[in-house]
Amino acid sequence: MFGKVKAADLWHEHKLSVPVDLKRLSAELGLDVVVFPFQGRLKEVIIDGVIGVRPGLPRSSFRWLVAHAIGHHMLHVGTSFYLESWQWVNHAKAERQAEEFAAWLLGGPDGWQYTAKELGIPYDKFLLVRLLANQGAPGSGRQIALPVEPRV
Ligand SMILES: [Zn+2]
Repeated sequence: MFGKVKAADLWHEHKLSVPVDLKRLSAELGLDVVVFPFQGRLKEVIIDGVIGVRPGLPRSSFRWLVAHAIGHHMLHVGTSFYLESWQWVNHAKAERQAEEFAAWLLGGPDGWQYTAKELGIPYDKFLLVRLLANQGAPGSGRQIALPVEPRV
């Protein structure tokens, strides 16, 4: 549940509220967000402080992917996270951590009290926000299995 702690830190340090202002947060973290036409199934990538997100996504999906990429930035290899990292990083684990971070970041401490629309996230991701809230306190030891797409 390290992602939960990191997200809570960001909420505190950057005085976040619902819906989370990702544009301001990214800027304050020194991250640039660009739209970039990836090949294949990649949806987002973060390289040297630049978050790239595939064009043509709904606003809510765009927001989720930016939060997910910030998760990689906060949780994984510092300022740089790119394809080659997957040679040694446990891909599925890192993806799940980034997903959980995104849920805590965009949901905040009581995201389950809001709607997906109020949080500005896709409905299927809102289910994750609620699921994590239901898991109880950090360290409760429950592991959830999330469907993981092969993406960075
Ligand atoms: Zn990812």
